[in-house]
Amino acid sequence: MKRTVAVIGGGITGLTAAFRLKQGGHAVTLFEASQRAGGVIRSVEKDGWLAECGPNTMLETSPAITRLVEDADLGIADRRRDASPAGGTRFILKNGKPMMLPGSPGGFLKTSLFSFKAKLALAAEPFKARWPEGAAEESLADFVRRRLGQEFLDYAINPFVAGVYAGDPENLSVKYGFPKLYALEQKYGSMIRGQILGARERRKSGRVTKDRAKQLSFDKGLQVLTDALAENLQAHFRLGKEVTSIGKTEDGRWSIQCANGVVVDFFDEVILALPAHRLATLIFFRGGAGSGAGQPLKCLEEIVYPSVSSVVLGFRRDQVEHSLDGFGTLNPEVEKVNTLGTLFTSTLFPERAPEGHVLLTTYVGGARQPDLALKEEGERVDLVLKDLRSIYGVSGEPVFQHSFLYKKAIPQYEVGYGKYLDVMKQLEVDCPGIHLAGHCRDGISLADSIVSGEKVAEKISRKA
Ligand SMILES: Cc1cc2nc3c(=O)[nH]c(=O)nc-3n(C[C@H](O)[C@H](O)[C@H](O)COP(=O)(O)OP(=O)(O)OC[C@H]3O[C@@H](n4cnc5c(N)ncnc54)[C@H](O)[C@@H]3O)c2cc1C
Repeated sequence: MKRTVAVIGGGITGLTAAFRLKQGGHAVTLFEASQRAGGVIRSVEKDGWLAECGPNTMLETSPAITRLVEDADLGIADRRRDASPAGGTRFILKNGKPMMLPGSPGGFLKTSLFSFKAKLALAAEPFKARWPEGAAEESLADFVRRRLGQEFLDYAINPFVAGVYAGDPENLSVKYGFPKLYALEQKYGSMIRGQILGARERRKSGRVTKDRAKQLSFDKGLQVLTDALAENLQAHFRLGKEVTSIGKTEDGRWSIQCANGVVVDFFDEVILALPAHRLATLIFFRGGAGSGAGQPLKCLEEIVYPSVSSVVLGFRRDQVEHSLDGFGTLNPEVEKVNTLGTLFTSTLFPERAPEGHVLLTTYVGGARQPDLALKEEGERVDLVLKDLRSIYGVSGEPVFQHSFLYKKAIPQYEVGYGKYLDVMKQLEVDCPGIHLAGHCRDGISLADSIVSGEKVAEKISRKA
């Protein structure tokens, strides 16, 4: 039997779920509070430049991503653009200058990014004891200090975490924020041994390893994907509908109430694909025994979402001394600069800047310096320019600029996050037909969000 489904939230998670359910012949309605599809995905084209405000690339770590991008109903397969191979080189800021991150064991032995002592610590990692099962939950920083030492934390993990979570490794949970890393120690007793054995197992099973997965986008940016999904949904997609409460109807189904008071009945299933702070405000009316109104997800408002601002600047090629030959640079906190890191956008996707020009995307704020993200746009650009001048030898003024602020950008899976995951799970048990998906439950990357949307759609389809 086909289901009647309400999807709340028109970011990539909700759009993916709604698209798959519609393809499966279910009666789906997607409710989105704002006037546009895509959530944090936002691509801006102007005067021959293409800027991404939020996410820049998607890592093709799951076949679900390939299937979605190539789906004939979306018709965007030929618009896919893989990042240039030059993006394989990554830099870490050290002593104020970008240093190449070694890509091979030989390169690691030779690099001056890490001291001899740090290299020895890495070699000793497979012989370190495993964290006992049932012992107190560790932060990522404690985990790395214990297995690899402070220098790796400062010059490898801290900048990596700034790039992925805009987060602070001292607060992030290794168990919930980096479950694959945690599992490596639990399963193999060592990260290095686990990486080697795990990669061997994945190769045998034909699965894609993260280091080989492609970074992709589209000719006009990531918004091509969310626009195509929204266009496919057409009448099933309701913009400007902020859902405020969900109620159980007399026949055991669910109704949706929007901020303007409009109530839409009756849904067999409801998918919530919202940020945690928005889930926290939802009011539930449950009929029958245990009835009454409440905010069962209220504690999710405690989940930290630091502010992040993107500053996208374009220059003539001759204004930048650095070769920009790579993916970009991540900035460790100990380097005490204003910015989290810079992507060499026009190296990854040359068509995003006019001929003879380069485009750089820099992120400001995060858990490290949230206040910097909130500064006036002019001040933010000045902070970024100051770093770009000293790090890459940029001279003169930018010929293109676009900046965007996410006041609540990325949820921090901090130590103790399991409590929030339990609350989400409990709601699904207490309210059959309600499902939670998306970045505050299933992981923060675009790949995680797509897989999350697919998974919840499949779960509902299996019921039908
Ligand atoms: C600055 C930044 C850079 C990033 N860079 C990358 C990157 O390069 N690569 C990568 O893989 N990931 C990146 N991410 C992470 C990734 O983009 C997100 O995790 C993912 O897009 C989340 O999608 P979502 O659909 O779960 O949530 P969202 O995109 O947050 O969508 C939720 C939607 O719900 C709507 N909504 C909220 N409340 C209501 C309501 N009450 N009723 C109806 N609708 C409501 C919102 O308007 C929004 O459209 C980045 C994120 C940010 C913020």
